[in-house]
Amino acid sequence: MKKTIFICAFCVTFLFIPNQTLQAQTFDRSVRTSENFEPTIPHPEQDKSVAKKLADLEKKTGRKPNIVWLIVDDMGYGDPGCYGGGAAIGAATPNMDKFAAEGLKLTSAYSQQTCTSTRSAIRTGRLPFRTGLIRPILAGDVLTQNPWDTEVSIATLLSNAGYYTMLTGKWHIGEAIGMRPHDVGYDEFMGYYPAQKEISQGTDPRRYPALVLNPERMADFEGIKPDDHLQHGFRGGKTIKVSQVKSIEDMGRADQVLTDFTISKIKELAKGDKPFFIDHNFMKVHADNHDNPDYPGLSAAKYAYKNAVVEVDMHIGNIVKALEEEGVLENTFIFITSDNGPQMDGWPDSGYTPFRGAKGSTWEGGVRIPGIAYWPGMIQPGRESDQIFDLMDLFGINLRLAGISTDVLPNNNYYDFMDQSSFLFLEDGLTNREAVYFWFGKELMAIRMKEYKQHIKVIIPKSTHMWIDYSTIQDVGLAPWMFNLYIDPKEEMPVGHRRSAWLATLGAKLKQHGATFKKYPPKNIGL
Ligand code: CA
Repeated sequence: MKKTIFICAFCVTFLFIPNQTLQAQTFDRSVRTSENFEPTIPHPEQDKSVAKKLADLEKKTGRKPNIVWLIVDDMGYGDPGCYGGGAAIGAATPNMDKFAAEGLKLTSAYSQQTCTSTRSAIRTGRLPFRTGLIRPILAGDVLTQNPWDTEVSIATLLSNAGYYTMLTGKWHIGEAIGMRPHDVGYDEFMGYYPAQKEISQGTDPRRYPALVLNPERMADFEGIKPDDHLQHGFRGGKTIKVSQVKSIEDMGRADQVLTDFTISKIKELAKGDKPFFIDHNFMKVHADNHDNPDYPGLSAAKYAYKNAVVEVDMHIGNIVKALEEEGVLENTFIFITSDNGPQMDGWPDSGYTPFRGAKGSTWEGGVRIPGIAYWPGMIQPGRESDQIFDLMDLFGINLRLAGISTDVLPNNNYYDFMDQSSFLFLEDGLTNREAVYFWFGKELMAIRMKEYKQHIKVIIPKSTHMWIDYSTIQDVGLAPWMFNLYIDPKEEMPVGHRRSAWLATLGAKLKQHGATFKKYPPKNIGL
């Protein structure tokens, strides 16, 4: 009995003492230079080089660079060919593969674990728990405040700096007046407020027969359904309902309509005198995927999900082609990514990840996503990097490209993004980010630093694939669950307290991170 007590006391000491020792600090290279910004790894030479590279380009072009984000919904890390999927799994992605081969392929890029969380984080530069936008806003939710009242969106900042800012496609961060894209800084919005399935559920008798084939329920549904119109809104101006999704065929064509719109705007904006920021968000490949009737059965696999992957890849190719044809490709930073891991609950209408977990979890499968940075002349072709990148860092890169100082950001908000332009735009650029933190709603779940990832809470599914609909969130045991992602990318073999120095370093980082919420309290908006 005495021996047992001794062992437990030892373990507790072992877990909590080392993060106060000097040794715990030695692996952490990051330095905090401002109280309300994340600490970054100092790279003064790298900073100077990227500043010169961007200044040289601006001298040549006479304007700030354009920015185009191409965000696919729920695409898995393993879906594009350049990430091991593609033709090998029945859905070739020649365009994404080409841009990865001619640009920078990030293999340790991270999102949040669901749509709204990622989409709000990249546009505010702040973790969802800070802004309160921790999950989609659903029918019946009563918000206690508009989160945007105290947030500054990347679109507002770019628009104020002389950019034309436009969001095409899926928004998913609120459809009430005051929360729409054109209310929060986008000069123009052409798209849908919710995700595909929320729109098409009222038109799909095969998947939702108990609703669609029951006239009484359909009548009730009219009053509670999410908005199913293609909306066209202008900052400070009108919002026009362009068309309604009345069939699964309409839904199947949505991405073609949106891509055509983005291409027409590229043609117009390329001739104008303003740099532009196009934030293009595909409806696909989020379940439920319906074939575009004009391009049925596009993939070798023939499954709707796979057809959607091929279709989205085709649209990505055409958008980049339009930039090239308009002569602005060499002055446009393009980033292709997904907002979270595959939604395995919808299988087989879901993507593929080689990692453990899926959308809705903070295992790698939920949060490690494809990240392709493409910019001919500015990004070295054929680069690949496993250094860590958080999609929120796009916020920092945009500020840098537009020449906007972080001084304009409110100092009572804590910011989680980093300026990663030196990492992406220099041939030998190193990441400025030491750690990525993983959250599930209001719960801090895990941290990754170098190849180590430590979980203090985990999502465990009760049935294969059911990571959202049939899972639990639980605490770990005495030792955090720590994995070496180089030798165990599937997070199956914990190395826990047997790698004590790393355990302590990651523990100390988690504590530092937690402390930022004491000084800068999270916002509760009623979600
Ligand atoms: Ca998503």
